[in-house]
Amino acid sequence: MNILLIYTGGTIGMNHNPATGALEPFDFGHLLSRVPELAQFKTEIDSYQFEPPIDSSDMTPDFWTRLAHVIVDRYQDYDGFVILHGTDTMSYTASALSFMLQNLTKPVILTGSQLPIGQLRTDGKENLITSIEMASARHQDGTPIVPEVCVYFNGHLMRGNRTTKKSAEEFDAFESFNYPHLADAGVNITYHEEFIHHPSKGQQRLQAYFNLDPSVIILSLFPGVREDLIRHMIDTPQLRSIVMRTFGSGNAPQSPWLISALKEATRRGKVIINISQCLQGRVEMGRYDTGYQLQEAGVISGYDGTVESAVTKLMYLQGRYPDNPDMIRRQMKQSLCGEITV
Ligand code: ASP
Repeated sequence: MNILLIYTGGTIGMNHNPATGALEPFDFGHLLSRVPELAQFKTEIDSYQFEPPIDSSDMTPDFWTRLAHVIVDRYQDYDGFVILHGTDTMSYTASALSFMLQNLTKPVILTGSQLPIGQLRTDGKENLITSIEMASARHQDGTPIVPEVCVYFNGHLMRGNRTTKKSAEEFDAFESFNYPHLADAGVNITYHEEFIHHPSKGQQRLQAYFNLDPSVIILSLFPGVREDLIRHMIDTPQLRSIVMRTFGSGNAPQSPWLISALKEATRRGKVIINISQCLQGRVEMGRYDTGYQLQEAGVISGYDGTVESAVTKLMYLQGRYPDNPDMIRRQMKQSLCGEITV
C-alpha cells in the first residue's frame, strides 16, 4: 500500500516570519519533521511539494490543472492521494478536482489545519494522520473504501464538492450542510458506506479534464441591488455564466428590470445558476412567485449544491463545451459526481 502526500501550502505547514510576525508557507521537509508518527504507518508514504507552497487564497484554476496532472501522471503508481491545502479555498479545490477527475477509483483526500503543525495545540497532526489512514482504507476484497475527492477535517470525512468552510476560528472548520458525512472518526473510524459514491461497472477508467474556463461570476442579491450595476456586469461580453445567490428557497426581487435583464442574458447564451444564500436546504423555484419568475427567465436551479461546486462545475463545463450553453445548462441540472441531489 502506498500513498502520495501532496503539499500545496496552507497554515498546516506555515511558520511565523520573524520580521513581520505573520504566518507564511514553509517547506515540506520542515513539516514532515514535525510528524515523526508518520514512520509508524505500514503504508509507504511518498511526497510531492509544489514550489513555492502557497496560501490557498492565492489558488487559481491553473494551479488546479497542475494539481490534477500530478495525480493523473502518478495515478497507477499509488493507492491513494492526500493533499495538504490551506483551508480558505479548500472546498473550491476539492470541488474542481471532483469534476476534473471523473470515474475516480482511488481516494483523493484534502486536509489542512487551523493551527500550524509546529504549534503545541495543532489540529494538523490528527487531520494528516487520519487522512492517510482513510486514504489507505480497503474493503476485504482490496478495493478502496472511499474512491472520491473528499475533505477530511476535525473527525469528519465529507464529499469534497459538498463542503463549505464555515469557521475561521474553530477546529471544526468545514461542513457538508446538504449531504451526510462519508465517515466519522472518533475512537473508531465509522464509514457510512451507503453515502459513498462508487463508479459503476464499465466506468472504471479515470477520465481527466484539465481545461477550465473561469469566465464566471458570483452575484449575491440583496434588498436595494441596483439596476445599472447589475446590467453593467451582465453586459460584459466575456462573461459566460453567473452563480446567482438568491434568498431562501431560490427567490429574488420581482423588479421587472431584473427579470428582463436575466431573460436577456439567457437569450444571449449566458448561463445563470440559482444557489440559495442559505447554507442548508435547496432551491425550489416553483415554491413562491418570486422564484417562479426566475425560472421563467431561464434561470437554472442549483438544487442543494454549494457555491463552490457551482462555480467550479461551470468552469469545467465551459472548458469542455466552449460554444454550447444548452449543453452546459443540461449538465448543470444533472449530478455528475454527487454534487447535487436532483
Ligand atoms: N490562509 C490559509 C490558507 O488558506 C488558512 C489556512 O490554511 O487555514 O492557506
